[in-house]
Amino acid sequence: MKDLPLWLNLKSLSEKQKKLFNIEINYLWCKGCGICIYYCPKKVYTAGELGKPQIMNMDDCINCRLCVMRCPDLAIEVYPREEEKL
Ligand code: SF4
Ligand code: SF4
Repeated sequence: MKDLPLWLNLKSLSEKQKKLFNIEINYLWCKGCGICIYYCPKKVYTAGELGKPQIMNMDDCINCRLCVMRCPDLAIEVYPREEEKL
């Protein structure tokens, strides 16, 4: 790492410090309306069985909470991940 150019080291540092979030979906409450999939700006979800969201890339979540706020069934929780990626 120390032999890399400075700009590469800075990029690595910012990636290490990136905030990560956990997402939990209550599939008993979810009715598969697809609103969360549509509104997520980072395309974290894809439609799975019965249109219910499957988490494809949780590390891309920026905690904008659009999915949480727009879910009519209050089926999504997003919260900071306790252990951050090092
Ligand atoms: S917005 Fe809520 S109810 Fe609709 S698919 Fe997403 S989690 Fe399920
Ligand atoms: S909080 Fe924002 S970025 Fe994260 S999954 Fe929900 S809509 Fe996508």
